[in-house]
Parts: sequence; C-alpha cells; structure tokens
Amino acid sequence: MNLHQLKEEICDIGRRIYNKGFAAGNDGNISYRLGENEVLCTPTMVSKGFLRPADLCIVDMEGNQLSGQKKRTSEVRLHLAIMKARPEIKSVVHCHPPHATAFAVAREPIPQCVLPEVEVFLGDVPITKYETPGDQAFADTILPFVHKSNVIILANHGTVSFGETVEKAYWWTEILDAYCRILMLAKDLGRVSYFDEPKARELLDLKTKWGYTDARLAPGMENCDICANDVFRDSWAQSGVARKAFEAPPAMGPKAAASANGAANPAAAGLDQEQLIQAITDRVMAALSGK
Ligand SMILES: [Zn+2]
Repeated sequence: MNLHQLKEEICDIGRRIYNKGFAAGNDGNISYRLGENEVLCTPTMVSKGFLRPADLCIVDMEGNQLSGQKKRTSEVRLHLAIMKARPEIKSVVHCHPPHATAFAVAREPIPQCVLPEVEVFLGDVPITKYETPGDQAFADTILPFVHKSNVIILANHGTVSFGETVEKAYWWTEILDAYCRILMLAKDLGRVSYFDEPKARELLDLKTKWGYTDARLAPGMENCDICANDVFRDSWAQSGVARKAFEAPPAMGPKAAASANGAANPAAAGLDQEQLIQAITDRVMAALSGK
C-alpha cells in the first residue's frame, strides 16, 4: 500500500469508529508505522468521522512531528509505546467505545468462556492502572500487558488495540465492544451462562490451529483453570479491578470437585483476590494478637 492509500484507509477506519459511536467529539486516534522512525497518525482536534488524507501527520518514534499541517494527536505516546514494545505491530487504534469503557469505569474484568468468537479472537482482556492521558506514565500503563493481548482496556478512559493492518487493529475494538454490550444485555435478562472446560479447550485448540496465541496457553499455565482463573488477576490489586457485576465462571478441572465440596476454590465461591488477601490478613493478625 502506498502512503496515499494508507491515509485513505485511516480516514475510512476513522469514519467507522465515529459512526459506531466509539469517538465523541474529537476523541480517538489512529496510527500506522511507516518505517523505522516514521509513524503516520491522526491530528488533534479533528473528528474521526470527517478526516481527510491531508489532515494526517507524520511523527518520529519520540513523538516529534515531522510533517503535516495539523498538530499531531496528544495521545501519540500511547501508540509509540506499543510500537516500541512490539516491532511487528503496524497499526494502533485508540478510542472510547461506550460498552468496553463502561467496564473500564466499573473496573470490572471481562468474563471468559461466554462467546466462542471472543475466545478465539480476543481471549482474556486486561485493564490498565489509571493515569492521566497524554504523558509517558499514561503510555507506560500498557507495558505489563502489551505482549499478552492485542486489545487493552484503559481504566476510566477507553480502549487501545493493535495489529498488522489498520483494519485488524480496529477489529479487536469492535469485537470487544460488541461482547461487552452482549454481556450487559444478558446480565439485564437475569443470567450469564458459561460453557464448560472441554468446550473452552476445543476453542483454544482451534485458536492454536489458526495461528493465534493466547496468554492462557503460555508455558506455566498448563494447570490453570482457563475460564475462572483470569490470567491478568495479579494486576487487579494495583489497578483497582475486581469482580463485582459478574461472578467468576464456574471452576473447572480437578479443582471443581473440591469447590463443589465446600468452596475450596475462592474464584468459585465468588471471592475476589483482594477479599481473600484481607481474610488471610485478618486471620494472621488475630493469631498474632493471641485472639
Ligand atoms: Zn482517549
């Protein structure tokens, strides 16, 4: 694709983001890595629904503007942090899709093992720690997750997704927002049903066959419950994420029997990690004080 076609594609994806309601006002930004030290990106203060190829800017990998009549987006550091960490990534899309952003505001982790396509295309989706948008500290909030997922929810802000083309980078956001919406609708109806472990394994096998990676299949995860045990739960204490609206999917595998006999599995008992740590801390403090 030549530069003009790339600019057209960014404008086209901008219209799709705007028409889906993923970018109010001048929200959202899109970038494409042209080379070692050149990135095409959208300008600040222009609606993503009405972008013209001439509006786009080129910046270097430090965010310095190299060309373009309009000023580059203020959130370019987020895009560059992803491109530096993952050199194979060509395009980054950031926007504020309402349903995924609702999970970002509620700091509710995205449940697994509900929709087959979501298992294959997304897998577990992480939520970052909140930082003020624009500066380097904000851009760096994606670093713990950037190698484990192609879409990341930004706490109290929106989403960022990335891929080898502009369209692919956008896809993950569209799939995630549709999923978040379905979860909210199903919860309104009264319950969310999860598929069982053999069915979840079948999907992960398909995913491997199709060449997608999944953080749940990484070395060291062999004995983990692929539905109930969110791979990003270690980050929850720092980011303030906790299961409140959706319970953990039922425990699976050998642990399931134990939990059925008396809530040995904290995930199945609906306890989140923070509550568990608190319960253990209380017990230790009680023992120390001799109560
Ligand atoms: Zn934003």
